[in-house]
Order: sequence, then structure tokens, then C-alpha cells
Amino acid sequence: NQDNTNLSTTTNAQTDIITVTEVKVNVSMPEAAPKAAATGADGVGLLRTEHMMLTDGVHPKKFIVDDNEDELVKILVENIIKVVDLFHPKPVWYRTLDAPTDEFITLKGGENEPHEHNPMLGWRGIRRELDEPDILRAEFKAVKTLLDKGYDNIGVMLPLVQHPNELKHAKEIATEVGLVPHKDVDFGIMVEIPAAAITIEDFIDVGLDFISFGTNDLTQYSLAVDRNNELVAAHYNEEHPAIMKLIKYAIKKCNAAGVKTSICGQAGSVPHIVEKLVEFGITSVSANTDAVEAVRKTVARAEQKLILNAARASLNNDDDDLFD
Ligand code: PEP
Ligand code: MG
Repeated sequence: NQDNTNLSTTTNAQTDIITVTEVKVNVSMPEAAPKAAATGADGVGLLRTEHMMLTDGVHPKKFIVDDNEDELVKILVENIIKVVDLFHPKPVWYRTLDAPTDEFITLKGGENEPHEHNPMLGWRGIRRELDEPDILRAEFKAVKTLLDKGYDNIGVMLPLVQHPNELKHAKEIATEVGLVPHKDVDFGIMVEIPAAAITIEDFIDVGLDFISFGTNDLTQYSLAVDRNNELVAAHYNEEHPAIMKLIKYAIKKCNAAGVKTSICGQAGSVPHIVEKLVEFGITSVSANTDAVEAVRKTVARAEQKLILNAARASLNNDDDDLFD
């Protein structure tokens, strides 16, 4: 009983640059989606939900406390549909809620939020959503509603995953609400904690369609540099060799297993970093709207260089020597 009548197909400005590595765009709020789609990006590599859930100043938990889950699901559907419709049939990866406790405190219904000394190392992302699964359940129900409407271009991305059991648990909750991970919906994790990059094979064993590097957090956790602390801002280096090594390693393991790879942190909008990621074999990058064009050109150049080098290497191996 699918209702496909309102599905639209992407008609935004197309580009004459074709890349094998997909170039996607990050979207933080539905209102920004038309501009993002106009770049001709190959999809949305990060759809943030924080603005959809928090902008009206109400703590999402309040819907649950008030026994009004349906309203939360409705708000999510109304917001997400604007993006999946605009981009259809290109994929949109919806990231589940990831806000630190200090961002919840000022909201209506946020009076009981705990005060944490270091919210960035605290109760956020998937760890919180699994402790309080009502909101995660509402998010999955919203995704299921969109699938039932025929939007087959939506994927689910879990933030701040640190252990394969978190992925396993989240998939169980998805299944409970009728979502079928890997079959009717792509399921992936953000790699933004070094532990996840180092043990990526264990996540692949649980079952993954894609990963996306959240380099904003991966940088702060790899280097022990609070991303919001100006005193240590000079030490915040997304190109630190340790981070490049983690990314290269995880891409290699994912490529071997047929798992898609992407990046949605700010580093994905920096052309010379993107060039390295293409050399590592990343299968897509997701940039800010205003960086998509430059990133696309960088990706195309990096791919040409790889192809030319491979062709030259094979010519040099040719033993058809004139003087043999
Ligand atoms: C990241 O950590 O790189 C990321 C994209 O997520 P956020 O900036 O929302 O933490
Ligand atoms: Mg992050």
C-alpha cells in the first residue's frame, strides 16, 4: 500500500563533471535543502535532526513525557520529507539525534537535564538514545512512515558509536518498529571515536551499509582537544597523521567488505584533505553547500591523477621492448 503519487525526481542543476566518488552535501535544516540540492550533489551525506527537534524550544523528551509520541513523529516526518522529496531518488542519510546535555538545558522540559563537567565526553549521541530509547524509536517510526510513503532513498546514520553492541542494539529497536536494516533502509554509523575506526571490522561483522567519518569529533577525540575550547584551538588539526591513518585504515577494511565510506565533518569541505581521501579510496564525500563545487573539481582531478598514474604504471610494466 505504497503511496508514490507525490514522489518527485531530482531536477536540480546538473554538472558536467562526472566523478566515480560521489560528491554529496550536508544539510542542517530543511529550509536549506533547496540551495543544497541546486548544487547537483549526489545526495545528502548528513541530514542533521537537531534543528528539526529543538528549534521550537521544546525538549523532545517532553513529547514522550506528555504521552505525545505521535506529535514528535509527525514533526520529524514533516521536516524530513522536505529533504527526501527534493533529493529523490538520490540517497539522504538521516542522522539520529546528537545534542550534548548543555544544549538541552535551556529548552522547555529540559529542567532535569544533568549538568556535566564535559558534555562532549558525556551523555550524547547513540549512548544517550539507547539509554532513553523513546526518542530513537520515534525517529525510526518517522523513517518507517517515509518508507511507507515510497521514499526509498532514506538511510539511517548513528552518531558517536563506540562499540558494536550499540549498533546491534539500535538495529534491534529499528526492527521492533518495523524498519528492516539493510533491506529496506541503509544503515550506517558515524566514525567519530577512534575506537570505532580501530575496531571497524567488528562493526562490519554486525552489519553495515556505510560509514561516515565525523572528523569534527574524530579530531577532538583523537587529539584530546576540545573542539569548543579556544585555548587549545591551535592543536586542533584535522590532518594530523594519526587521523589520516585511522581514516585510511577504516576505508581499506570497508572497501574490502563492500561497505560504502564517506565523510561529513568539516574536513570533507577542504579540497586538499578530500584529495587524500580519494587516494585512500573513499566512495563518497559530503561537503557544505558552498564547498560542493570546489570539492567536486578536486575529486575529479584526484581521480584523473589516480587513473593516469595507474595507466603509466601498466605501460611501464609492458615488456614489449623495441630492442628485445
Ligand atoms: C562530526 O563530528 O564531524 C560531525 C559531522 O558531527 P557534529 O559536528 O554534529 O558533531
Ligand atoms: Mg560529531
